[in-house]
Amino acid sequence: MRLRFILGDQLNATHPWFDQVEEDVLYVLMEVRQETDYAPHHIQKVVAFFAAMRAFAAARAAEGHRVHYLQLDDPDNRQTLAGNLSALIDAYQATHFAYQLPDEYRLDQELKAFAASCGLPWEAVDTHHFLTRREELAELFVGKKTYLMERFYRHMRQQHGIMVDAAGQPITGQWNYDADNRKRYDGKVPVPEPISFGQDVTEIVRMIRSAGVYTIGEIDSERFIWPVTRQESLAALDFFVEKCLPWFGHYQDALSAEHWSLFHARISFPLNAKILHPREVVDRAIAAWEGSAGTIDIAQIEGFVRQIIGWREYMRGVYWAQMPGYATQNYFGHERPLPEWFWTGDTRMNCLRHAIRDSLDRGYAHHIQRLMVTGNFALLAGINPDEVDQWYLGIYLDAIEWVEITNTRGMSQFADGGIVGTKPYVSTANYLDKMSDYCGGCSYDKKRRHGAGACPFNSLYWHFYERHRDKLDKNPRIGYAYRTLDRMKPDEKAQTLAQAETYLADLNTL
Ligand SMILES: Cc1cc2nc3c(=O)[nH]c(=O)nc-3n(C[C@H](O)[C@H](O)[C@H](O)COP(=O)(O)OP(=O)(O)OC[C@H]3O[C@@H](n4cnc5c(N)ncnc54)[C@H](O)[C@@H]3O)c2cc1C
Repeated sequence: MRLRFILGDQLNATHPWFDQVEEDVLYVLMEVRQETDYAPHHIQKVVAFFAAMRAFAAARAAEGHRVHYLQLDDPDNRQTLAGNLSALIDAYQATHFAYQLPDEYRLDQELKAFAASCGLPWEAVDTHHFLTRREELAELFVGKKTYLMERFYRHMRQQHGIMVDAAGQPITGQWNYDADNRKRYDGKVPVPEPISFGQDVTEIVRMIRSAGVYTIGEIDSERFIWPVTRQESLAALDFFVEKCLPWFGHYQDALSAEHWSLFHARISFPLNAKILHPREVVDRAIAAWEGSAGTIDIAQIEGFVRQIIGWREYMRGVYWAQMPGYATQNYFGHERPLPEWFWTGDTRMNCLRHAIRDSLDRGYAHHIQRLMVTGNFALLAGINPDEVDQWYLGIYLDAIEWVEITNTRGMSQFADGGIVGTKPYVSTANYLDKMSDYCGGCSYDKKRRHGAGACPFNSLYWHFYERHRDKLDKNPRIGYAYRTLDRMKPDEKAQTLAQAETYLADLNTL
């Protein structure tokens, strides 16, 4: 018997492993405490992985493949990958061990060590999921301190022949329509009711709870909203392409108190679990654009393609180029603990209350909520990136370290000192007010820097720049911030910084 191990985020039915049924091959999948317990996961995240793994195992078994699936409550479950693999190798008297290359450094190390010591011939194979090799980004930027996403993105378009002509130039004459992707949502275009799948996952929830797994957030276990099967994931992709893509780019950066996902795709879980392939996602969206007779314009499709073949593959490349050192980077030396209300949403700041409660309700927040609301606040308030990482890693369904840490520690917290971003993503209330409808209904005053009810983003923003002057004032992209700060009347500046100190002294009460 040859044993092939599949991790919970390797649910790729089109992998060559499944091209034909082989009688002497046993596929192994397992639910283990090792994976449920390494971060405070959202209940919907744990459920999504288990439901997706079970559906995948059942589908492969129905095709005739031999599958051994270990549930969390199986009495034979040793609750670690290595413990279960050793036991199964013995039980089946396996003669060969194989696994697909993990996307997480931690698991990559563990499986490599396990394979080397298991006493069997073994191999580690590609997952056939990404468009790039692990090393590709590092090779492209060899000798460079920073990795410019735009350069990587153009390389990807050319390499994969995506929306380029025979000479490798963009077919519309322009690579990037980012400038057209910054509209505030004004309610004129109706937002489609988000597609929901309604699976009954009560049994899985009961098992997780009775095992005593610590989880956060809420779940409606009789009507689970997320896609976990291949069929559901394809339906989610179709829904996005038909209903959301025509407006995706325009409202990509918008924030709305009423609409939790606006025109976003909500396919990051099936993508990251490898149920959907990035190439099929891009091809499906481009086909819709080509067949749309102009109803989907270039700014929408280009904005979407950039996320999938640009940002997503880019983050993976940064991860493999920088790990393991990346996981401990803390450029600003931030050490404050995360405010308690990050776990409840109980804050008077309307933007944060919405972003956190949306996250706790569904295990999801869209990109701008993550970057410009929760991330922005954590950076301005000087929260320890380890705590910020743990929060993002636990709360989102799509959070797997390769894409979570690069977005959180890199893009959002600038803890890598500028490998991912060319400047920190921070703002005052002004940006949030421009892009959202949050500020109108807030207890804080968006216009005030200091004094009663002043919005904390305003004073914390200037405090952030003042306290990190030595690290930031030479950055050509943020000179304007220092010019404004230095032109501020001394009294105004002193009161603003004092206000920030007051807030920082007691973040839990904001
Ligand atoms: C602080 C922070 C943490 C994040 N953590 C994660 C994470 O753990 N897992 C994760 O998949 N994404 C993460 N992102 C990126 C992004 O927010 C999510 O991919 C997106 O919100 C998922 O929702 P969606 O499918 O509706 O995305 P859409 O906005 O509809 O975008 C479509 C797809 O593009 C890809 N994409 C878009 N932006 C990015 C990005 N910056 N990096 C990688 N892929 C991207 C995703 O696969 C996404 O599904 C994070 C962003 C920030 C700022």
